[in-house]
Amino acid sequence: MHLPHRFPAALLLLTLGAPFGTTAQTPPPPVAVSPAAASATAGTPPAPAPAPNDPVARIRDEGLNRSQVMKTLSYLTDVTGPRLTGSPGLLRASEWSRDQFKSWGLVNAHLEPWGPFGRGWSLTRFSAQVIAPHAIPLIAYPKAWSPGLGAKPLEGEIVYVNIKKPEDFEKFRGKLRGRIVLDGAPPEVKLRFEPLATRRTDTQLMNMANSDGTIGTPRATSATGVQPSSLASPELRAALALTPQRYQFFSEEGVALLLQPSRIGESGTLFASSATVYPPRNAKAAEPPSKEEATPPGAKKKSSAPLRGISAWKTDAPPIIPQLVLAIEHFNRLVRMTQQGEKLRVLVDLQAEYHTKNLMSANVLAEIPGSDLAHEIVMLGAHLDSWHSGTGATDNAAGCAVAMEAVRILQVLELKPRRTIRVALWTGEEQGLLGSKAYVAEHFGVVKGAPPAGTQPARDESDPFAPAPRSSPPVEIEKKPAHAQLSAYFNLDNGSGKIRGVYLQNNETVRPIFRQWLKPFKDLGADTLTLASTGGTDHLSFDAVGLPGFQFIQDELEYNTRTHHGNMDVYDRTVADDLKQASAIMAAFVYQAAMRDEKVPRKPAPAAPRPAPAATASTQ
Ligand SMILES: [Zn+2]
Repeated sequence: MHLPHRFPAALLLLTLGAPFGTTAQTPPPPVAVSPAAASATAGTPPAPAPAPNDPVARIRDEGLNRSQVMKTLSYLTDVTGPRLTGSPGLLRASEWSRDQFKSWGLVNAHLEPWGPFGRGWSLTRFSAQVIAPHAIPLIAYPKAWSPGLGAKPLEGEIVYVNIKKPEDFEKFRGKLRGRIVLDGAPPEVKLRFEPLATRRTDTQLMNMANSDGTIGTPRATSATGVQPSSLASPELRAALALTPQRYQFFSEEGVALLLQPSRIGESGTLFASSATVYPPRNAKAAEPPSKEEATPPGAKKKSSAPLRGISAWKTDAPPIIPQLVLAIEHFNRLVRMTQQGEKLRVLVDLQAEYHTKNLMSANVLAEIPGSDLAHEIVMLGAHLDSWHSGTGATDNAAGCAVAMEAVRILQVLELKPRRTIRVALWTGEEQGLLGSKAYVAEHFGVVKGAPPAGTQPARDESDPFAPAPRSSPPVEIEKKPAHAQLSAYFNLDNGSGKIRGVYLQNNETVRPIFRQWLKPFKDLGADTLTLASTGGTDHLSFDAVGLPGFQFIQDELEYNTRTHHGNMDVYDRTVADDLKQASAIMAAFVYQAAMRDEKVPRKPAPAAPRPAPAATASTQ
C-alpha cells in the first residue's frame, strides 16, 4: 500500500477498515457528499438544491453515497488479474461481468463472439535474476505472447548487443546462438521534479473549451521520458530505423532470450505490451500491410515504406524470440556492469501457454429495457481487455467498473428509461479497437471499402504526442437498420481520473444538450465541452460510421507516468472518489439520452480516418 507522508496515521486505520470505500491516494471522503458540501470544498457557489425526486439528483446520490464501483473494480483487477485478449483471465472477467449484470436485473446479458481474433496467451511461471557475480532479483516482465523457455529455467551468460548502425551486425554474426542478449542502448534516466499525478488545470480546460475542433487535443502530460520520435537524436533515430532488421538478425542467429529496457518509466515501473515480431527474410509477409520484401541487415531499402511487424497473437506468426522487459534502472545497471568487464550470469524461469482452442473473442453486452422508445438504443461502454504486467486497473477496469456501476445505479433506482440502455464491455481494444469495430460492423454499419476489423493496422498510441484524427474527406457508409436506432455511445477509457467534461468529436450540435446535462455536476468539476476530437479508444468505432460516439474528458492522474500499460496499473493506483463521480455522470448522461424526445443529433457524414502510422498494435 502506498501512503503519501502527509496523511496521518488515523487515516491509515480508516483506509484499512474500508477497502472498497476509499483508497490510499484520496483524502478521507466525507460520509455523505451533498452537492452543497462538495461545492464548499471546490470553492464554487453551491448549486440550487434539486427537487428530491429529480432523477439526476437520485442518480448522483446513489453514485456518490452507495457506490459499489470499487468492489466491482477489485474483482476485475485483484481477482481476475490481467485480461489480455484471448486469455483465461479475460474470459473469467467477461463471464463474471455478465453474471453481475444478470444479478442486477439487466436483460439479454451475454457474451457476443467476434473474430477470429487469434491465439490467447497466459503466463504460467516467471522469475528472472542475475545469479553471478552476485544475486540481483530483476524487476522484469515478459512481453505478451512471448513463448516460454521450457520446463527448466534457462541459465547463461549475458551478452550485450547495442546495434546502432548497419555495420554493427557483423560484430555479432555467428556469436549469438543460444545466448541471452541484453538488447539496446541504456535509456537516460532523469530525476523527475514534476508530480507523477496531475489534474487538468483551469488553463488547460479553458484551452480545450476554446478549441475550434480543427486539431485533436493532445493529452495534458507526457509520459515519463517519452519524446516524440522527431525530437530523438539522429543516432537514436538511426538505431530505431534498424528495428526490423535487428529482430530478423536475432532470429536468424538463434538468440535464446532478449532482455530489453522498458521504453519509458522510472523507479521500477515498467511498461510491457506485445512481443515484437517481424517476418523472416525471404518469407512472404503474413499480414496485408507487410507486403514489402524484407531488407537484409545493412542493405539499402528498395522502397520507402517501412517494414511492418506481425501481430504476435496471429496463429501464423513466425517463431517468436522470448522477450523480457526490464525496469530501466535494472537494465542500465546490467549494461554498466558488462561494460566494466563483469561476466553476468542470469537465471530465467519463463513458462507461458498459448490458448488456441477457441480463436474467437467476445464482447459482453447487457440491457436495461426501454419503454415507449424501446426500439431505440443508448449505449455506454469501456474495454475489458488489458495488457498483462499489472492488472489493467486504470486501463481499463476502471472504465468498465464505472460503466457497470452506471447501469447498476439506473437499475436500482428503477428509473424506467424510454430508450433501451445497452452496456458493452469490449475486448481486443488493445490490439486495435477490434471488439467494438466488429460489433459496430455487425450491428450498425461499415465504411464502404474498409478492410474487415482486425486486418487493418492499429493506430499507434505509443506516442502520446500523436494528434487525434483530423478531418478528412467524407466516406460512404453501408448502414444496417439499427444504424437509425442508435442515439449515442458514451465511452470511458482515459484512466481513473474524474470526468471534467466531454470531447464533442467535432459535433457542435450536441453542445447545448451536453451543457444542460453537465450542469448538475459543475460543482464536481465537470463542466468543459471541447469541440476537439480525441482518439485511441472505442468511441472511434462508432464515430467512423457516422454514429455519435463520445469519450469523456478525464483528469489524467498518473495515467501517462505510472499506470497505462505498466506493471503498476493496479487497484491501489485508482481513486475511489473520482470513479464514483464518473459513475454518477455516466449514468446521468445515459439516462438523459434515453429520456429526451429526440435522439442525440448527428454530425455531417464522417471523415476518413488518417492512415495509421507504421507501428506496433497498441491503443488505449
Ligand atoms: Zn491501453
